[in-house]
Amino acid sequence: VQIDSYRAYAQQHYPSLCQPRPENSHKGTFGTVAIVGGSKGMVGASVLAATSAMYTGCGKVLVGLNHVHNPPAVFHNRPEIMVDYAVDMVTNYHHIVDTWVVGCGLSKNETAVQILKALWNSSITQLVLDAGALPILAEHSELFPTQHKRTDLVITPHPGEAAKLLNVSIERIEQNRDWAARELASRYRAWVILKGHDTLISSARGFLLTNPSGNAGLATAGSGDVLAGMVGSLLAQGIEAEEAVPAAVWLHGVAAEVLVQMQIGPIGMLAGELAEAVRWVRNQL
Ligand code: AMP
Ligand code: MG
Repeated sequence: VQIDSYRAYAQQHYPSLCQPRPENSHKGTFGTVAIVGGSKGMVGASVLAATSAMYTGCGKVLVGLNHVHNPPAVFHNRPEIMVDYAVDMVTNYHHIVDTWVVGCGLSKNETAVQILKALWNSSITQLVLDAGALPILAEHSELFPTQHKRTDLVITPHPGEAAKLLNVSIERIEQNRDWAARELASRYRAWVILKGHDTLISSARGFLLTNPSGNAGLATAGSGDVLAGMVGSLLAQGIEAEEAVPAAVWLHGVAAEVLVQMQIGPIGMLAGELAEAVRWVRNQL
């Protein structure tokens, strides 16, 4: 694997990714991420996001499950992850969480809407919305005033989710990706990661960047959840959104390239393997 060119790229564009861990660090140094999602049948998405957040280097991860009774077996081999019900997490762990990632494996029900509303209207500063959070935002605009003061709001739609948010067809999104990313950014005052081949990133002010890394191995179940966990993780580590958002997308793509170089993809690449490759790359930079 040719890591040198990746290291040079990171040193130039994402210097925070190249910082060694301070010897006197403790887990609080690297921040806490809460993943809210994991409805019945989609718990794996929240586990993938949580695992990838840890692999990306944050200090601690909590998962708040929406309406599943007892943490399912999939958590048994991830004892590092704290698990609770999402409603309890929002109430009880508010003060220890740096970054909230909402939507991975979240299906829409009244509880999900209320949780997102509570977080949206709270004083939390770092909020990443993916997957199941996005249709809630699209369908209940009256609950989510866009005049928020949040410093770091990140939304990570794939073209289908972007189409729903903008109430247009997927074809319209795909033919006007620049417009779609900018429109979402200004409407929600958010960082936007418009996913797919040639992922586009827009700052809230409409500055656009096309991510250069990645491959079609990423077209696999759960790879979006891995990305959401990575964005949350880099933000929780105190990296400014200007750097953290594009850095997460770049690193996600580089991990996929590394797996292809190791012949673990593109065919049959698994999202969990992608998350492990992210850790490997992170330690090489
Ligand atoms: P999701 O649709 O939420 O699972 O996210 C899929 C992830 O894989 C996103 O980060 C996409 O940008 C990425 N992805 C999917 N298909 C491709 C592709 N053909 N080339 C590059 N990246 C892709
Ligand atoms: Mg997704």
